[in-house]
Amino acid sequence: MDVREIELRRVRMPLVRPFRTAHGVEHERDVLVVRIATDGADGWAECVAQNEPTYTSEWAGGAHAVIRDFLGPLVLRAPVTADGVAARLAEVQGHPMAKAALETAVLDAELRTAGRSLASFLGATRDRVECGVAVGIANSIDALLDECAGYLAQGYRRVKLKIRPGWDVEPVAAFRKRFGSVPLQLDANGAYTLADASILGALDEFELLCIEQPLGVDDLRGHAGLARLIATPIGLDESITSARVAREAIEMQACAVVCIKPGRVGGLLEAVRVHDVCRDRRVAVWCGGMLETGLGRAANLALAALPGFTLPGDLSASDRYFDRDLTEPFVIEDGHLRVPDGPGVGAVPDRDALRDLTTAVEVLTRA
Ligand code: MG
Repeated sequence: MDVREIELRRVRMPLVRPFRTAHGVEHERDVLVVRIATDGADGWAECVAQNEPTYTSEWAGGAHAVIRDFLGPLVLRAPVTADGVAARLAEVQGHPMAKAALETAVLDAELRTAGRSLASFLGATRDRVECGVAVGIANSIDALLDECAGYLAQGYRRVKLKIRPGWDVEPVAAFRKRFGSVPLQLDANGAYTLADASILGALDEFELLCIEQPLGVDDLRGHAGLARLIATPIGLDESITSARVAREAIEMQACAVVCIKPGRVGGLLEAVRVHDVCRDRRVAVWCGGMLETGLGRAANLALAALPGFTLPGDLSASDRYFDRDLTEPFVIEDGHLRVPDGPGVGAVPDRDALRDLTTAVEVLTRA
């Protein structure tokens, strides 16, 4: 595929409610949207880097700069296929979310040109996927429970609560008291240390699906140690940066379940390899969320329709995050979201929404 032009667009997406984790709070998303013009169809992708480098080291402004100065020129240099993008970009260290956005845009263009859906290309076996919802740290336990009650009334099948030291056992106990046995997992975003094992062990009685990323991103050994001390399964998110790391983590017994996010592992193709590693070892996976617009959500839904995704994903309807999505809104139906079946990722930004929400545009062309 001959990529003639790369458009980098910044889009401001106000969030319906602030999203607070152990490391930060987002009131709106500064989204980097990538469009490539090729000798075939245009390709679109959303970069999932957040506003600030608090989830991982990437952020939207940094992703924009590294694509403009380094990654974009490599893609423009010569024709490239989607399965060759990662190798082309390998000389630049790190920046998996920026690389994933470029790979997805090339893949989207290839599939649109061929008239084929991403879901079919990746090997999806379902036409809809179960929805879970991730709930940020609230101002009070009552506010948290009311927010959860709203999501459960909408049909979400699983709740994930963000936790941090001081906001863990009490909100979880309150959740169980009010909502009974609703499938529940927790996400600490690395906010604990092995010295907190007794607090994390106190969560065993709540029969959680898993505790996600209790310890630091580079601490596989610590997670393996913690797994021997608590009964709740450990899930890894930030730590799983590739299929190789997923295999190591599973072999070390550092995790019993894995969260897959294409942006975090450098793209959809590596995400499928992580899925395959986990499936071969009978480790369940779920698809994570990064407050995506409909563009990123469409790609996640195609991925989450693969057979190894046996846990409900952090895949929510558009109105969980935005009053106005960038694409046709995704709507929850009977606890599920439909997997897009149109060409490419199956969603494109709405022209009017794009015009109204864009804050900056930069176009890269061949030197
Ligand atoms: Mg997480």
